[in-house]
Amino acid sequence: MRSGRSASTRSRYSPAGGCKNARVTPRTIVAFHAHPDDEALLSAGTLARAAQAGHRVVLVLATDGGAGAVGDGVLDGEDLGARRTREAQASADALGVARLVGLGYGDSGSDRADTEVSGWSDGSFRAAPVEEAAERLAAVLREEGADLLLADDANGGYGHPDHCQVHRVAAAAATSTGVPFAQVTIDREFLSGGIELARGMGLEVPEGFVPPDVSAWYTPHDTITHTVDTGPVLAAKRASMAAHATQATGAPDTVRTLSVFLGLPDEIFAIAFSQEWFVVGGGTALPEGLEGELFTPVAPAGT
Ligand SMILES: [Zn+2]
Repeated sequence: MRSGRSASTRSRYSPAGGCKNARVTPRTIVAFHAHPDDEALLSAGTLARAAQAGHRVVLVLATDGGAGAVGDGVLDGEDLGARRTREAQASADALGVARLVGLGYGDSGSDRADTEVSGWSDGSFRAAPVEEAAERLAAVLREEGADLLLADDANGGYGHPDHCQVHRVAAAAATSTGVPFAQVTIDREFLSGGIELARGMGLEVPEGFVPPDVSAWYTPHDTITHTVDTGPVLAAKRASMAAHATQATGAPDTVRTLSVFLGLPDEIFAIAFSQEWFVVGGGTALPEGLEGELFTPVAPAGT
């Protein structure tokens, strides 16, 4: 197994860096999400850019997504969790992820925070004790000598209980290990504008994708601290989405989010996915070299 520490002592010249600040210090970035395909939607572009720049990228998934929706005949007898694990590996390969880790929890299988939890005995991730799950994640962070942890925001994005749990577990693991934690999110106003634009263009908006209002979704624009320009890696981001084929095809009675995104014309796809958004909390500093090279600070409102 490759050591993250030895990787962090290497350095190389960036051919794209020109004459200024050309030396890049390779870092180890660990992204933590709940399900296969969460990375495709939230952090794929950042992971691809980091990998291309020579950083080590590790993807940790809490569950195998085994409770996801799937269309008739798609699995042909295969276990959904096993299929989605293979899809996650294909996504990881498309992004240049060096290692994919599954924490082995059960997919809670619900998009709604008000669905009853049957308890920890079912192994569902959202019912797992935070400290116990955080220690599993922390073990990976230590093993990798991680320099940065990326994981879902405090709202769990759109409020999926597994995504909320990812945030709690990531925050606890960051505290126990001292690894800086950057929340992966979406600019709420950008999302609202995108939905309006899609409706105006007559594009199909996924059923259930748009709540009456998005005021509790993701992160307000003014709270975003960093963006990553993912324009150079749109093909990798699209390939990551396409890798999750069970989530992009034929589920009953619903329009699949991934299938809508994958069906966008290239120029619309580029508008929608040319940046990713982050919140780095007060008192947390990104590792030297990543800020500016990969993460662009957002100027505070009013400056
Ligand atoms: Zn998810």
